[in-house]
Amino acid sequence: MELKANDIINELVETKDIRITSQRRKILEILIENRDKHLSVEDIYNVSKKQGKSVAIPTIYRTMDILQKSGIVIKNDFGDGIAKYELYVKEKETIHYLICKRCGKIIEVTGLLPDNLNSHLLEEHGFQAIDTSLKIYGYCDDCMYQEGKFQ
Ligand SMILES: [Zn+2]
Repeated sequence: MELKANDIINELVETKDIRITSQRRKILEILIENRDKHLSVEDIYNVSKKQGKSVAIPTIYRTMDILQKSGIVIKNDFGDGIAKYELYVKEKETIHYLICKRCGKIIEVTGLLPDNLNSHLLEEHGFQAIDTSLKIYGYCDDCMYQEGKFQ
């Protein structure tokens, strides 16, 4: 999965004002690496242990609490009483371009694709989208009639 852990962590620190200790960083890295899974505190502990940098379970609990309050992770309970966490990084709103074939004007638009497109593609098609840019060619308001295409 092509996710730059450092970029994401830096952005979280900037926007959420969370002090990142090396243990919190490790936890965030694990969450990012396993972004398509739901992890329990124990899962996180086991991954950290396997990677040779084990984080104490109470520290994981505390960190998950902070991350949850900051809206960085979502806590789920799938009925077995075990809290499972997943990272919630809002996908950046993608800008799409409408390009006029006659005068070359470029109009930027947002909201053409659903917000959850990336997670939809990942869940439904096992596909990790990294570029959802879209160029749409046509005629702008001024050119539409002059071009005599759409009268
Ligand atoms: Zn035009």
